[in-house]
Amino acid sequence: MENKSTILIVDDEKINIKLALGVFKEFIDEFNIVPVLTGEKALDVVQKQKIDLILLDIMMPDMDGYQVIEKLKSNQDSSKIPVLFITAKTDDHSIEKAYLSGAYDYVTKPFRPIELLSRVRFHLSHSQLVQQLERLASYDVMTNIYNRRKFFESAHQMFDEHNSLIIAVMIDIDKFKIVNDTYGHAFGDKVIKLLASTVSDNLPKDYIFGRIGGEEFAILSYGDDLNKVTDIIEDIRKLIAGLELSNNNEVVKFTMSSGIAEIRPGDDVDHLLQRADEALYEAKESGRNRVCTRILRK
Ligand code: GH3
Ligand code: MG
Ligand code: MG
Repeated sequence: MENKSTILIVDDEKINIKLALGVFKEFIDEFNIVPVLTGEKALDVVQKQKIDLILLDIMMPDMDGYQVIEKLKSNQDSSKIPVLFITAKTDDHSIEKAYLSGAYDYVTKPFRPIELLSRVRFHLSHSQLVQQLERLASYDVMTNIYNRRKFFESAHQMFDEHNSLIIAVMIDIDKFKIVNDTYGHAFGDKVIKLLASTVSDNLPKDYIFGRIGGEEFAILSYGDDLNKVTDIIEDIRKLIAGLELSNNNEVVKFTMSSGIAEIRPGDDVDHLLQRADEALYEAKESGRNRVCTRILRK
């Protein structure tokens, strides 16, 4: 089954692993179980394969459960994996410490099988829900690229990390109102989707790309020079201009215009995008279906 959840069980005592395995073995369609005997192994596994939930023992020689969870939380890739402690420690301090360390829950040993199973299922579905919500909050539903909110969040992150070598690109579909008026709104949506996927497929992976308005898109790159970015966008413009969509028996073509600007000392995200927008305006004014890097008007 493709929707199996993979659970990592970490316990230094083989008998505990065996007991936990016993709980899940009836549900092999639902769970993949990966058992390991040390914290080090657990961290190793997490780097190498996708883990959906971790059952973690606290008392282990070498690295204990608290140290393992600290490492997991400090790494962006593993910080969101739900961790449930399985612990013999039931005193107030240990329970409080378990939650403070970032665990989602704890189950005391000896555990009741149905309790362990139920808590695991609950946290798996809760974590799936959180992932879905994060996706909905970050991606534009129509085009599957970053939405405006996520674009600006990533842009601010980029500006926090770097204050040079950032380039902004604005893209806007030409005469799009005419496309809508001639072929209808649903066809217009197809054009927006095709533009977004074409740009996305032809941009370097580390560029930030988002839909920031109806048929307006923005890109931020870090590290590449203006010539390189301009070449990439110019290639995309040509690709777009060569695309053909069919509407009934008619072949429909469309074009995009683009403005590009380089960061200047003291720029924030808005200043840089504003200049890219001014360059876009030049591209529109000077005939559309073109890429402008220079702002001619004042
Ligand atoms: P220009 O070349 O100057 O950009 O001309 P334009 O017609 O594209 O002008 P403008 O950018 O002002 O028009 C954008 C149009 O895009 C207006 C709006 O109705 C349409 N639009 C915005 N969002 C969507 C959408 O999600 N789907 C569709 N089909 N149309 C949209
Ligand atoms: Mg337009
Ligand atoms: Mg527009």
